[in-house]
Amino acid sequence: MTWRLFEQLQIAAEEPQRIKRFYSVTGDILAYEICPRQYGLYNHRRYRTAHSIQLWFGLVVHQVLNNLHATYQEERERSGVKRIPTDDDVSLAFEQVCDSLNKRGIRWMDKDERDRAQDVLKAFNRIEGPTLFRNIVDTEYPLKSDRGDFYLEGIVDILVDGSGTSTPPFCENVEIWDYKASRKPDTSKPGKAGLKEAKKIEKYEFQMLVYASLYRMKTGKFPKRGVLYFMNELADLRDPTTPLEAIRERATITFDFTDPNLQGKIDRALEDFSQTVGLIEEHKALDSWPAPDAITDPDTCSACDLRWDCQSDEVKRFVKMRYP
Ligand code: SF4
Repeated sequence: MTWRLFEQLQIAAEEPQRIKRFYSVTGDILAYEICPRQYGLYNHRRYRTAHSIQLWFGLVVHQVLNNLHATYQEERERSGVKRIPTDDDVSLAFEQVCDSLNKRGIRWMDKDERDRAQDVLKAFNRIEGPTLFRNIVDTEYPLKSDRGDFYLEGIVDILVDGSGTSTPPFCENVEIWDYKASRKPDTSKPGKAGLKEAKKIEKYEFQMLVYASLYRMKTGKFPKRGVLYFMNELADLRDPTTPLEAIRERATITFDFTDPNLQGKIDRALEDFSQTVGLIEEHKALDSWPAPDAITDPDTCSACDLRWDCQSDEVKRFVKMRYP
């Protein structure tokens, strides 16, 4: 029989192809570090959140500011006029963005939340608009690097011209800005709460260090500064005479990439990134997503759909069961 001719034939099984995944600083690494369980269930198992309020606030802030800047640029190119958007322009852009998010099923929680988001955007436009819009070099600036086993990626909200101060040769004259739809971490809180806030700042610093490193890979130089803007700090600006510098001090954290101390941290941040990717891959292989030993962000837990089924003892202490 002919098949007997092939009886001894040995064919090696094909090695399973390794998929090279994309990992983003905020969507993967920071989300995993805040809570592996929440990250795994929403990103890996693809659960849908019941409430998209945090998502809504973040999207609305980013999209409205992008629209305002696009309109400013368009007018400047068309007529040469540098017109700063008014409160009415903000309201119009806000309504358009809310409408488009609504059609995608992403809604605000209640009217107060909606009003607050609009107030924050108007305040930001009044405070930063006059200097910021004309200095924006690019928006949604993509960064990417091939790290061998995976791709590392990030998106900088805005690149801003950093002219005005001297720049060392290893830096480019730009600032990278990232909008945060939350409050600035308050390290003056007593005890453990203050330590948790300091941890949050470490994570934000990590994000900016990775962005700075990716920027250098793309352009050959570091950006000069990084700015994190905590939009929610503008929500209750009651006193109209508050000096601009005091508001910025309250709403921002800046990183000076010309500082040699920060330079040393940049390479370490990339190593940490690779280690966290390794942990995520391990959890993915087992599809096992434990809650963290110690929660880093109580606000995230308070808004988490998984809080009634969370293994964390800390969460069990402050989340009370609700019975019908
Ligand atoms: S409640 Fe907190 S610790 Fe528990 S799964 Fe949600 S985010 Fe994670």
